[in-house]
Amino acid sequence: MTREAPVVLWFRRDLRLGDHAALLEASEHSKHVLALYVLDDALLKPSGAPRVAFLHGCLKALDDQLGGRLMLVKGDPVNEVVKAAREIGASAVHVSADTGPYGRRRDVEVKKALAEHDIAWTETGSSYAITPGRITKPDGEPYRVFTPFHRAWARHGWPGPADTGESIVDWVEPPWSVKLPKSPSLKGMELPEPGEKAALERWHEFLDDGIETYDEDRDRPDRPGTTRLSPYLRWGCVHPRTLLADIAGNEGTGAKSLRGEFAWREFHADVLWHRPETARKNYDSRFDAMEYESDDEAFKRWCAGRTGFPIVDAGMRQLLAEGWMHNRVRMIVASFLVKDLHLPWWLGARHFMQHLVDGDLASNQLNWQWVAGSGTDAAPYFRIFNPTTQGEKFDPTGEYVRRYVPELRSVQGKAVHKPKDVKGYPAPMVDHAHERQVALERYGAIKGT
Ligand code: FAD
Repeated sequence: MTREAPVVLWFRRDLRLGDHAALLEASEHSKHVLALYVLDDALLKPSGAPRVAFLHGCLKALDDQLGGRLMLVKGDPVNEVVKAAREIGASAVHVSADTGPYGRRRDVEVKKALAEHDIAWTETGSSYAITPGRITKPDGEPYRVFTPFHRAWARHGWPGPADTGESIVDWVEPPWSVKLPKSPSLKGMELPEPGEKAALERWHEFLDDGIETYDEDRDRPDRPGTTRLSPYLRWGCVHPRTLLADIAGNEGTGAKSLRGEFAWREFHADVLWHRPETARKNYDSRFDAMEYESDDEAFKRWCAGRTGFPIVDAGMRQLLAEGWMHNRVRMIVASFLVKDLHLPWWLGARHFMQHLVDGDLASNQLNWQWVAGSGTDAAPYFRIFNPTTQGEKFDPTGEYVRRYVPELRSVQGKAVHKPKDVKGYPAPMVDHAHERQVALERYGAIKGT
């Protein structure tokens, strides 16, 4: 094959030019590369406004890096990718593998359609340090528990960053392109700066001031102690390999703990790869028999942050205000929905996917299942968070609650976690001790099934 025939690089969850294995592979086949992105309603329609607006920002940033040569098309990728590739006489379409359920189905169809026109399909790398599905137990079975997966993942290792950048190829002038649609209204919500440059800036800021104290601070929602990289990882503005390479050899507690969090992301993607149905169904099928409530009013109060449990309300309001919520608080609000209100995890997961700027099917659904007990947690149901003591422990001065719940701003210190008759703030909607018992009884009823 001559390096003169152009190829297509179809961007999906890899909206960057640095450390881009598929771009490197494309460049080895051709120096003329068409950068393509397909606006696909099957993915965009169910996505919430923050995620779509952030995506639009990332596309704009990528287009700027490409000197305005990102070809944007709208429609069914099966038609659009073939059309673009044929138009420029491409010999191949290069992609980073998409390992989610929809992406896998779609790619089978696109590959088939391309083959009808003798256009090759090449997958190189993915959004993960180790592509989901690669790590299995010695008997070939997938890991079901995080800790042994984490060990195997670390032992396996990963290649160093791919040496790519803006000028590695000649970007082909798009034969046509649609305009980026208007972003959905965010009603005053401010999102992080989108794109690769912003992702790397944020990362370097964290390396200068954050990594050393990450392990201590990561559970404190009142402190800016985490990387805030999740939306960038969601859209591939930065690859985890870049991040892992930058902290390689750092054996400090912060770097170790951060590697563990990256491993969680990879674990959930691996679970979803092996069990795509767990995006909607219980990973542990015993939970199919779990008794849930159907209570719209309770669900609405949870969504609006009006439960009367300050840490839960602060988290739910942070989500509505910023499109993001601190990890510790995500666990607390999820536990509250499932184990205090006895509502099914998928209702909460759907609300999160509509509002999170980092909404990611694998991380979201499987974290929800983990908290609900129906997922991969080895000690599932007994972990019932007490929202009051969690608040006192992880927001010890009450600063986080006061930031997001203005009605409670007059309450000083950690007393904010047990407010007494504060005007405008609701009384607790349930008795936690009682609901905890109910949750345990319901779990007891399915445990042996
Ligand atoms: P940091 O603490 O700086 O962690 C660095 C990176 O590690 C994160 O950006 C993320 O990519 C990864 N990571 C950290 N914790 C986890 C975890 N528990 N599971 C998977 N990856 C992790 N994360 C998402 O990216 N998208 C989601 O839709 C999502 N939904 C969640 C739903 C629930 C119920 C829970 C409990 C967690 C969810 N998480 C999700 C995981 C986690 O809360 C976020 O990744 C994290 O809060 C993002 O902030 P950060 O980038 O500052 O994290």
